[in-house]
This record gives sequence, structure tokens and C-alpha cells, in this order.
Amino acid sequence: MTRKFSSDRLLIATHNQGKLEEMAHLLEPHGVTVLGAKEMNLPEPEETGTTFVENARLKAHAAAQATGLPALSDDSGIEVDALGGAPGVYTADWAETETGRDFVMAMTRAHDELVASGAPQPWTARFCCTLVLAWPDGHDEVFPGVMEGQVVWPMRGDQGHGYDPVFQPEGYDITFGEMDRWEKNTISHRADAVRKFVAGCFD
Ligand code: IMP
Repeated sequence: MTRKFSSDRLLIATHNQGKLEEMAHLLEPHGVTVLGAKEMNLPEPEETGTTFVENARLKAHAAAQATGLPALSDDSGIEVDALGGAPGVYTADWAETETGRDFVMAMTRAHDELVASGAPQPWTARFCCTLVLAWPDGHDEVFPGVMEGQVVWPMRGDQGHGYDPVFQPEGYDITFGEMDRWEKNTISHRADAVRKFVAGCFD
């Protein structure tokens, strides 16, 4: 039995403004006041897990312990089938440079590795998002979300963030980068996970 969420305030354990805005928008209809990790001055825990759920648990429990509030975290990334599921949990790491994140570099790497692999198109892939809601007493609930699609090349569109310009969701002929931001929000892996969270934790 999933534990219900009964507080009026929910801490979103992310320092990523894009994720925070998406979550605030998705949770608005449920009358929850959303707080961000940055405004609570929380440190960013190191993501040492090897799965989305491990990393999401790390972030949610650290935030719940530090604040005494229920905390919702998100760990996400893109899995490319012909690359054996890479970059997966290392999706953000592929973009790391000494001067910040460079997603054009990361998307170019994914494309170059796909070409080198000789894998035929479509290059099937999925965005995954695991949400974990942790309570200060140590209990947690896990909600996985997914959006199937394919990696396309060249990059298309300047909406969104991260790998959006090379991801074409199933059933569409435009990339997430070309899609209206709020439309993406209704079909994305994160929306899928939030729907499960709401169905499980709200009456
Ligand atoms: P983390 O969950 O903070 O470890 O980072 C996940 C990474 O996955 C982000 O930095 C993005 O690069 C990528 N990612 C997750 N969700 C999306 C999305 O909706 N669009 C594009 N990239 C995403």
C-alpha cells in the first residue's frame, strides 16, 4: 500500500531550475506548495549510484533528512538501445566539461558512437525518469516514468534542454526540441512518473 502524501508543502530535491518548473506545473492542480533545493540552501549530494532509482533515493533521503520535510527527487536520462543503454545514468556526465555542461558535445558523442557501431536506423531510445518521494522517517516510494522514441540526426529545435534536439518521441515527427514546452510536459517521461506519483500518493 502506497503511503499517502498529507503535507501541504513538498520539497523538490533538485537544483535544476528546468526540472523544478516542470514539477511545479505538473503538481499545481493538487494544491501543493513546491519548494526548491536551492531556496532551502541544500547541498547537492554526489550521485554515486549505478541506477536511476539509487541516485533518486540518494537525493530524496538527503533532502528529507536535512529539512524534516517530505522530499521528491528525480533522476533521469536517455537510454540508447544500440549503445547498450548508454549514456543512461551517465547522461549528464557525458555533457561535463571544465567550464560547465555542453549538451551539443554530448549529443554529438551519442551520434558518433551510433555511426561507429554500424547500427541500422531507427536508433531506438527512451527517456527515463525515476521519482522518489522520501519522508524524514526514512520511508520512501518509487515511481518510474518512460517515453519511448528514437535518436535522430541532425539536432532539431531550440526548445527544452539537454538531449531534447536529438530525441523524437514515438508517434511524432518532431523532436522534443521542436515541441512546445508545455506539450512536452504532458507526454514526457517526467509527466508519466508524476502521474504515477499523484495516483499513488494523493486521494
Ligand atoms: P540528472 O537526473 O540530474 O542526473 O540528469 C539527467 C540528465 O538527463 C539531464 O542533465 C539531461 O541531460 C538529461 N535529461 C533528462 N530529462 C531530459 C529531458 O526531458 N530532455 C532532455 N534531456 C533530459
